[in-house]
Amino acid sequence: AKVIFSGIQPTGVPHLGNYLGALQQWVKLQNEADEDTKLIYSIVDLHALTGSQDAAELRKHKWNTLATLMAIGLNPWRSTIFFQSDVLAHSELMWILSCEASMGYLSRMTQWKSKLDLEENHNPFEASPGKEGNKLKLGLFSYPVLQAADILIHRATHVPVGHDQSQHLEFARVCANGFNHRHGQVLVPPSTLLSPAKRIQSLAEPSLKMSKSHLNNKSRILLSDTKNTIEKKMKVAVTDTNGYVSYDPEKRPGVTNLLQIAYHMDPEAASAGSLEEYARQFEGTHLKTFKSKLTDVIDDHLTPIRERYFTFAASQNGELMEAAELGAKKARESADATMKAVRDAIGL
Ligand code: ATP
Ligand code: MG
Repeated sequence: AKVIFSGIQPTGVPHLGNYLGALQQWVKLQNEADEDTKLIYSIVDLHALTGSQDAAELRKHKWNTLATLMAIGLNPWRSTIFFQSDVLAHSELMWILSCEASMGYLSRMTQWKSKLDLEENHNPFEASPGKEGNKLKLGLFSYPVLQAADILIHRATHVPVGHDQSQHLEFARVCANGFNHRHGQVLVPPSTLLSPAKRIQSLAEPSLKMSKSHLNNKSRILLSDTKNTIEKKMKVAVTDTNGYVSYDPEKRPGVTNLLQIAYHMDPEAASAGSLEEYARQFEGTHLKTFKSKLTDVIDDHLTPIRERYFTFAASQNGELMEAAELGAKKARESADATMKAVRDAIGL
């Protein structure tokens, strides 16, 4: 039987990149799943600790991430939706996998390397303890090991993620195969499921991916943004000096990103064919006109989600709390079954 697993960090209200690259696919998989398919979706709060640590913020984002997942149409009775920290076994399996994970392999992960660049600290192993500027943490380095544990502990067969997570998934497969090679067939190497919109770029810097943790909040459109906010962000979305639309992914990454967003949100797009064909109808359109059309497309698509989001968020946790408890219970059962086999296999 299929087991679908994926996660999202509670580092802010999810944005269009999260939605088009991952969350929309989570819902589709749920709605199209046959009875035997298990779906497990985690709000990975332990992963969020690798970023800035602020207890009140984290608590707030945990609940608004859960509200978002419910708002987009995930059903907590059909899918298992849970907070990672409610299932202790994730951390236990992470330790076990750490004892076999390669430092060399981990140091080549692009997510880690991009954080190295951000900190301008190219040799993290040399920085002395307690010194200002020594911000690179072990948890950030071992992030992919915890992610591998999240996936493997639920015996996931398929993991729907955006393109930025492909390398981490390859690492998870290496962990599973390595473990199985030494200890027998215990873990399941998962397949990656990339969604059609595998990478949405930042509105402020089209060379970067849209991210929750990017400092500039105009770089992303949140699922909770009102039409007015979408309009404002769209107005300042960075393109280039050409004021008219044309499809040129190489030379015009900003415009291409906007076309891409439109393509994946416009109900008319399905009949247009490929992105390139869809883009043809806007060829030569004034960018201002196109941005205003895109604002409408996004707003129409997000309005029902936003309304549900605010209802859940305002329900002061009643329904959300119930969903989280139910999810934690189901996720614990799923994780404990694997841990029993793992502990047995390694002699604990
Ligand atoms: P953070 O900046 O805190 O890492 P994030 O925006 O990268 O936040 P995550 O919680 O790390 O979001 O990732 C959740 C899911 O969204 C993952 O499957 C990831 O691949 C996907 N995702 C994130 N950003 C994008 C993007 N710009 N385009 C497509 N998919 C994305
Ligand atoms: Mg991320």
